[in-house]
Amino acid sequence: MSKTKQKHTEKQTHSFQTEVNQLLHLMVHSLYSNKEIFLRELISNGADACDKLRFKAISDDSLYAGDSELHIRISTDAEKGTLTISDNGIGMTEEEVIQNLGTIARSGTAEFLKQLSSDQKNASNLIGQFGVGFYSSFIVADDVTVDTLAAGSKDAVRWESKGDGNFTIEPIDKKDRGTTITLHLKEDAREFAEDYRIRSIINKYSDHISVPVEMIKPEAPKDADAKDDEKVEDKAPEWEVVNKVKALWTESKKDLTDEDYKEFYKHVSHDFQDPLVWAHNKVEGKLEYTSLLYIPAKAPFDLWNRERPQGLKLYVQRVFIMDDAEQFLPLYLRFVKGVLDSNDLPLNISREILQDNAITQSLRSAVTKRVLDTLSKLAKNDAEKYQLFWNEFGQVLKEGPAEDFANKDAIAKLLRFASTHNDSDIQNVSLEDYVSRMKKGQKDIYYITAESYVAAKNSPHLEIFKKKGIEVLLLTDRVDEWLVSHLTEFDGKKLLSVTRGELDLGELEDKKDKAKLDKENEKAKPFLEHVKTVLGESVADVRLTHRLTDTPACIVQGEGDLGPQMAQILKAAGQAVPESKPIFELNPENEVVKKLEKEQDDEAFSEWAHLLFEQAVLAERGQLDDPMTFTNRLNRMLLKLSK
Ligand code: ADP
Ligand code: MG
Repeated sequence: MSKTKQKHTEKQTHSFQTEVNQLLHLMVHSLYSNKEIFLRELISNGADACDKLRFKAISDDSLYAGDSELHIRISTDAEKGTLTISDNGIGMTEEEVIQNLGTIARSGTAEFLKQLSSDQKNASNLIGQFGVGFYSSFIVADDVTVDTLAAGSKDAVRWESKGDGNFTIEPIDKKDRGTTITLHLKEDAREFAEDYRIRSIINKYSDHISVPVEMIKPEAPKDADAKDDEKVEDKAPEWEVVNKVKALWTESKKDLTDEDYKEFYKHVSHDFQDPLVWAHNKVEGKLEYTSLLYIPAKAPFDLWNRERPQGLKLYVQRVFIMDDAEQFLPLYLRFVKGVLDSNDLPLNISREILQDNAITQSLRSAVTKRVLDTLSKLAKNDAEKYQLFWNEFGQVLKEGPAEDFANKDAIAKLLRFASTHNDSDIQNVSLEDYVSRMKKGQKDIYYITAESYVAAKNSPHLEIFKKKGIEVLLLTDRVDEWLVSHLTEFDGKKLLSVTRGELDLGELEDKKDKAKLDKENEKAKPFLEHVKTVLGESVADVRLTHRLTDTPACIVQGEGDLGPQMAQILKAAGQAVPESKPIFELNPENEVVKKLEKEQDDEAFSEWAHLLFEQAVLAERGQLDDPMTFTNRLNRMLLKLSK
């Protein structure tokens, strides 16, 4: 921080960023029945501040300035109706206070809040995706004061607000490092000025914070002010530690309850709801580490935002090193939260060094396996819960086979799809389910990709599969073509698109049908050539098919062509996409096709051929490049028929 910056000496008034006001409003209205959570947030911030100081002091011992016993102290004043939370952690400079307690840094916030106000009913649910943080103080307080002195600085500041759109900043005289937050409690929140009430909340929410949380020992003189100077030392209040202090992940599993794990999750994740599942493991041997990994129950609102912070809280030998260490998880597991505590990494590690460190790589692959393992157990033991997971994060997991070659098989088993086996768009069919239902003689796994579930389900390409009772997976997520371009096999079976190349049903094929089709194709050569000439540049080839039972015609992609979704993704990314022409396939059993074959009039032949082709494109893509030509043609033909 530059020293040249002019120092303010007077009280200044600032406005909150718009989003802060919206969040405040939302919070006060949706969390009134769950008021006590504000204390968890403030204690959590105090603990974070202590962790940050401890980390900085590894390289600069002087920051402690003789005070290295870090703690959080809480005192109450029932008469005045105030609650004070004080820490001797890292503190904040004036600039930091204005930034941290006046704005919401996460991008996409405004967008998200807009969605919220239109559906307030779900607010308390959605606010969990957001993290309530410091601003939750205003659930219980009508006036909040934050006095803070940053480690290594002499200039203390006071931030004050009534939560009414503004806050003030002024320089103050504060000698001891850290932050003291004083809440003036609202009339209906006076319970939080009661000592016993606070103790019970701490035991509920903050037992497993690694920083001691202290309160004044009963019977001791009730002087709430922690800022006593040395002279009155023997009159100073006697503080006692009220939480367990032991970091949760260092404890043994058998000493921890589900509630302990859930509360700790809220502390590390800034989530407001319970997690779906977790895995707590201590590993000794070549690599020594403890991991506590959580799968959230709900996707955060900005899951698709690339700049969104992600990753684990990293500790080295129980010393906090950094938040959001993204090096330990692949991108397709970016929804995982938790703690990684390594005994092997050096304490003075930086983000840059972490990047290409051999230990990091080993830890990353261990953590990745652990998460996949947890998911696979969940899928096996609690299909219902797994479905909840899939609905929230399935699309992210589908990026896995492309990103993580080594774990491709494990990821493939975790995937779920919609399928013609079910009558709904729910993605709940695994590849193992599919394989177990394969027909006798079926070699491959069939899928169709389409823009929507309805388009996939009703595609003419499925006609032959329906007739033969062969299951087809219906893939309609944006990421699906990307997925199947990397996941080409499962359990020794190929994944085949039903809209691509020449359909080969292997042993399921009626040998007689196949021979018949070949013969018909041969015989129809002049007709097919005629159609091809008429359609010109629009098609790569024209042939007869046995894919269809009812529909007259369809288009298929060439073997090596990009799928339409992939082509779109690449185009959107600014890449040149080779134009690929479809193959036009005609159903020889269909009356319209038979009629076309017999048509003698050149103009009528061309009209019918074009119409069939345009229909097929429409059925396949849901849209035409030139819809007017199509409707004009249709009208011309209708007019002729009515004459
Ligand atoms: P979060 O903890 O998720 O970052 P909060 O709203 O709880 O969000 O806090 C916002 C920021 O304010 C924190 O990231 C931190 O930088 C700062 N802050 C809050 N409380 C303290 C504190 N007691 N000491 C130092 N910094 C704090
Ligand atoms: Mg916080």
